[in-house]
Amino acid sequence: MEHYSLICNISELSALFHEAMDLRTFLDRTARMVAEHMRAEVCSIYLYNPSDRELTMTATRGLNRDLLGVVRLKLGEGLTGTALKELRHIEEPVASESPYYRHIPHLREEEFESFLAVPLTRGITRIGVLVVQRRKNHRFTHMDVQGLRAVGAQLTSTIENARLLLGTSALPSEGDDYLAPDVEATFEGQVASGGLALGPSLSLDREGQYDSLAHAEYPPDLTLDDFRHALSATEQQLEDMQAQVGERLSDVASLIFSSHLLILKDPGFTAGVATLIGEGAPVPRAVLGVANAYLSRFQASTIGFVREKANDVRDVVTRLLHNLADAEAESPECRGRIVVAREFFPSQLLRLSSEQVAGVILVTGGVTSHVAILARSLVVPLVIVNDPRLLALPPRTDILLDADHGRVYVRPTDAVLGRYRTRLAAQAARAADPSAIAPRTCTSDGEVIQLMANVNLMSDADLARRLGAEGIGLYRTEFPFMVRRELPTEEEQFELYRDLVARFPHGEIHFRTLDVGGDKVLSYFPDMREQNPFLGVRSIRFTLRNRDIFIQQIRAMLRANAGRKLHVMFPMISSIEELRAGRGMVEQCISELHAEDHEFSNEVAVGAMVEVPSIVPLIDEFAREADFLAIGTNDLIQYLLAVDRTNEKVAHLYLPHHPAVLRTLHAVATGCIERGVPLSVCGDMAHQAQYLPFLIGIGVRSLSVEPICLPAVQATVARIDLVEAQALAEEMLAATTVAEVNELLPAPEAEPHTAQG
Ligand code: PEP
Ligand code: MG
Repeated sequence: MEHYSLICNISELSALFHEAMDLRTFLDRTARMVAEHMRAEVCSIYLYNPSDRELTMTATRGLNRDLLGVVRLKLGEGLTGTALKELRHIEEPVASESPYYRHIPHLREEEFESFLAVPLTRGITRIGVLVVQRRKNHRFTHMDVQGLRAVGAQLTSTIENARLLLGTSALPSEGDDYLAPDVEATFEGQVASGGLALGPSLSLDREGQYDSLAHAEYPPDLTLDDFRHALSATEQQLEDMQAQVGERLSDVASLIFSSHLLILKDPGFTAGVATLIGEGAPVPRAVLGVANAYLSRFQASTIGFVREKANDVRDVVTRLLHNLADAEAESPECRGRIVVAREFFPSQLLRLSSEQVAGVILVTGGVTSHVAILARSLVVPLVIVNDPRLLALPPRTDILLDADHGRVYVRPTDAVLGRYRTRLAAQAARAADPSAIAPRTCTSDGEVIQLMANVNLMSDADLARRLGAEGIGLYRTEFPFMVRRELPTEEEQFELYRDLVARFPHGEIHFRTLDVGGDKVLSYFPDMREQNPFLGVRSIRFTLRNRDIFIQQIRAMLRANAGRKLHVMFPMISSIEELRAGRGMVEQCISELHAEDHEFSNEVAVGAMVEVPSIVPLIDEFAREADFLAIGTNDLIQYLLAVDRTNEKVAHLYLPHHPAVLRTLHAVATGCIERGVPLSVCGDMAHQAQYLPFLIGIGVRSLSVEPICLPAVQATVARIDLVEAQALAEEMLAATTVAEVNELLPAPEAEPHTAQG
């Protein structure tokens, strides 16, 4: 009962802490309260710094407070250090008789021989130690141990919050920075797009940021003229960004800031603000007044893309008010920063990329796998960390984002930075000059493997060509559809595809028809919400239901490939009928174009993606009917194992090396080899070094990977011996459990990071 009330009090304390106390005051109060409730003369809190593996006494009730921050114990040193090292509580009736005891002069603990320490941990991460002491003859009971452990568990999360939210600046500044290294925190997350980034944070808590604008500092006596200047400065900034991105992302760029600019140019917006200023409203309030009216209209809409516009309004008004505010005000600029956000649309990612964001952390699972794919195309490191505390970080908190291993270091210590310095430098050098691949990719014993590239944006095609890809094994045509506010016309698509062909004149380009639905929702298209979108009107099902869209796309592809062979492939094919229906559409388009006297490709290969398991029992028939097949392992694994590829709660079940996946891949490869139909693998497995020996071992001879992966894949293939790969594949195919396959799998690429603490 006693301890129960103690736990309640601790949670009250954690609420108190939100009233912006500093960490030390908070811990002091905690120590006092715990001591009182445990009827202990002493309670001390030690915090652990993983970089030097030391505990520091940070708060105490009952011992010499002059030694706060001075008493430091190595991990394993004394009873306290041992409790943390061995991650167990230590109870001693007479502390000085324990072999672990270490005397600390001047601490004045000699009278308090009855000792109890519990480690503070999160998982296996060491946070600190909570110690209580009583006079001799007043031994701690089993109940005391239970109670202190419960308190410790609560205290851990509050300390973690305190470290994050209060940060270095909120710590006492007594010329003593002993707590500074302690404010480092590490988060584990899921990799969406690899890479490293180091920079100050920027929380994209749009609503919070926007709401705080009402209370920001503005120069006194702002006038209508100041508003007009801020308006044109904002327009200029947006146009500059648009121009910069236009060179890099020609296929999707034109629309990134268009709605922002439209809002600024909307006479209703400017006139509304001018009227309110004329009526005596201060300028910032006038801007917010008009903006809020727009916001409530957009937010109330039932149409997705109209609601999305609310974000644009917030963005543009934040920028505008920043231009009105004191120059010192926190800038909403993303350049060079690590953005922490809650939700994300592809268009927002494009905007951030065009502002040269350094990296992105998403704090919920609200990312679609195609935002991840887009992030890879844009070379934006992206990690999903399911921890909203990151959103509450003070602006400009230093962050090191290791998106290769899904790790986020908040306020990284020098030791952590030191470990990453070489990798950061190497990444910068690679980005400046990625090295081209050799014209032929061969195993160590000379087996030739075709190496092609996946292209999402035009910029990928440029990189693919520069690096020497033999072709484009997958062109995901949906991205230009996804980032727009309306369907691109046949003419627009024709221009786009012709541009791609011009950039990649030699080598095959596998044009995949529109793969929307699932996690790729067109915000402007009605009725795309479904109970079970990955099993609904997705991919080929969408295009066969929306034949006008399908026809326009196929016509654009045929026209753009005039004078060369068109490779067109359909995603998510689950039956022979669908493949035939797709081919039928191609034939219909050919006869229309012929009748219209258009120029178009007169040689067409029609392919299917192998993504739905129902293809596998029919693989012979598919190999007979299709001109080529491409395995999309991302979806194939999802559908075969019934694991949503976008749901991090089941990410541990998404296993490319599940025996069922391996045998399915083998069946597809064998069917294609027997029928002599060209087969490639274009899902993520194709660039994962671990799986390449298996794929080559079962007979895959064509891979399509993201351009940036080309050099690494070529190097991995060159290390593979075909005969060994075939033997390994055979062994892997004989395995019946994931654990057995794990034993056989080549070790994944070693983490350059050496874990510590
Ligand atoms: C796949 O599913 O493996 C694939 C290549 O297509 P996407 O990732 O675009 O669904
Ligand atoms: Mg797919």
